[in-house]
Amino acid sequence: TLKKIAIYGKGGIGKSTTVSNIAAAYDNSTFVIGCDPKADTTRTLVGKRIPTILDTMRDNPGCSKEDIVYDGYNNTICTESGGPEPGVGCAGRGVIVAMQLLDKLGAFDSDPDLVIYDVLGDVVCGGFSVPLREDYADEVYIVTSGEYMSLYAANNIAKGIQKLEGKLGGIICNCRNVENEEEVVSAFADKIGSKVIGIIPRSKLVQDSEYKATTVIESFPESQQAEIYHKLIDDIMMNDDIRTPHPMDIDEFEEFFYSYV
Ligand code: ADP
Ligand code: SF4
Ligand code: MG
Repeated sequence: TLKKIAIYGKGGIGKSTTVSNIAAAYDNSTFVIGCDPKADTTRTLVGKRIPTILDTMRDNPGCSKEDIVYDGYNNTICTESGGPEPGVGCAGRGVIVAMQLLDKLGAFDSDPDLVIYDVLGDVVCGGFSVPLREDYADEVYIVTSGEYMSLYAANNIAKGIQKLEGKLGGIICNCRNVENEEEVVSAFADKIGSKVIGIIPRSKLVQDSEYKATTVIESFPESQQAEIYHKLIDDIMMNDDIRTPHPMDIDEFEEFFYSYV
């Protein structure tokens, strides 16, 4: 395996979209592991929602690898940890249980070239840092836009990474078309000791392909948007400038943000 990466970022910011498209763009074997209870990372790769590990374990404790790992578009294999029933149990614990089962069933034995964890990021509690803490992933990328809440979450995620002495490979700017967006995100990356590794424009092709349960790569392979996802995964695979971030404290963050708006 060449790289094991984890993608963090505020809920709804575009993690799963980015993960599925870069996985589809990468031609070598890729293992995509959705760790969000929303369990929608792999839908556009497999063409439908797949049963989650936690649901499958509940119904069938003796399940096999074939029950939880599915083939997806362009040499991907896909799985979703899923979550506890809403309102009951700890989601972070669920990810640990799911990961242990994947290990036990030999899901990593095929030695994929790339492993991608689609994580979460609103909460950087012990549970959600599992892929990083347990050394499942060695490199983190944070998806953010130029919006306040998204950068705020990114800064908090950087705090979590710093605590764990984890490595940040860069910031992915998924544009929401706010003012000065690229400047703010690039200044943010600088401030925390990282860099912007990719800028993804907002594009209607994302919704159009999502509607068909496909990635942009599959449905619009010749588009500019597809080209951008291709470049992003190439840049990630070549990236060897990976550092522990130094996030801002709250006052610094406020001062930073308001100097740009
Ligand atoms: P997350 O996994 O971070 O919760 P998603 O990847 O599910 O976020 O994205 C949330 C919504 O935003 C989705 O409906 C998706 O279609 C849309 N979206 C994400 N990235 C883009 C983009 N670059 N252009 C247009 N829409 C996008
Ligand atoms: Fe578990 Fe953390 Fe979620 Fe609480 S916030 S349920 S500890 S994962
Ligand atoms: Mg998601």
